[in-house]
Amino acid sequence: MTELKNQESRQPGRRRTLLLALLLASLIGLLYARPSWRHDAGATAARATHAVLLIAGMSPRDVYVWRLRLAGLYDTPIGLAWREAVAAARPTALDNRQQARLVFRPETVRARVFETPLARGMALRWRLSRAAPDSGRLFASLQHSDDGRASADWHTVATLHADGRPHQYTARDNGHYRLVFQPELGVSIQARLAIVRGGSLPFPVVGGHEYDIGGGFGAPRDGGKRRHKGVDIFADRDTAVRAVVDGRVSTGNGGLGGHYIFLSSGFIGPRFYYAHLDHFAVKSGTRVDAGQIIGYVGNSGNAAGGPTHLHFGVYVAGGAIDPAPFIRPMPNLPGD
Ligand SMILES: [Zn+2]
Repeated sequence: MTELKNQESRQPGRRRTLLLALLLASLIGLLYARPSWRHDAGATAARATHAVLLIAGMSPRDVYVWRLRLAGLYDTPIGLAWREAVAAARPTALDNRQQARLVFRPETVRARVFETPLARGMALRWRLSRAAPDSGRLFASLQHSDDGRASADWHTVATLHADGRPHQYTARDNGHYRLVFQPELGVSIQARLAIVRGGSLPFPVVGGHEYDIGGGFGAPRDGGKRRHKGVDIFADRDTAVRAVVDGRVSTGNGGLGGHYIFLSSGFIGPRFYYAHLDHFAVKSGTRVDAGQIIGYVGNSGNAAGGPTHLHFGVYVAGGAIDPAPFIRPMPNLPGD
């Protein structure tokens, strides 16, 4: 699967590089062909180049690397130091909740890197703000890699803006994630970063907590004949359960789940399974909003006679995945 994805992305990537090289060559050619344009057109051409590269799907950081090439700095010691600063940085391991001050001085070439593994369904929330007025550019991005080595293939999944507002990214794959901060050469920048890590969804049982989860995902069931395909959240009978996303509910009755609900947010997103309910709060086929009460905890189905609990499952195209990362507590952003 990964092999296939790489194959698919390699060809368009090569074509894109060729296209960019042609565009850049024509822009440079234009400047040299008309000496009278050089002064006035310099800035315009730089802006046009920028626009072209951004449209081609390159990150602002990639665009800057092209600018280093254009300026003849790419292979100089300072260009090399800039390009290797991220690999040379000692990454800080991210906690669930933390703040950092990012200080970059014009005379030093360095990058700051924060790293964390994330399971599918977990999210990072952050706020990036300028701590001092300055005019330099700060390249800030969130990157993903299947393994955590600095030499690994890191892909940018989000660009961070120092706008002082909260932003969130939900992990679509298990893997390693890192936040990378690096200013352009020769500028002074001070910024503040607040960041938290937790689940991307609200807790499905109203008033419930992570420590109410009893049976974990993958635990053996029926003497090892099958595996537990969700988590069990223990709660009193008739405790309300909420929709974790906007979507459509479909209710059912029978089998292991007893009174159960499937909540779907669309064709692509995961489906959420609520089982062993005592009764429903919504009719099958209803559209619901995230947070809305859809049913009440019970012990219907194969939980009959046992302690009341919600069996909560997350299903994707490949089958059931661990719901626990989705419903971990998300701390408040420092400063909120
Ligand atoms: Zn269960």
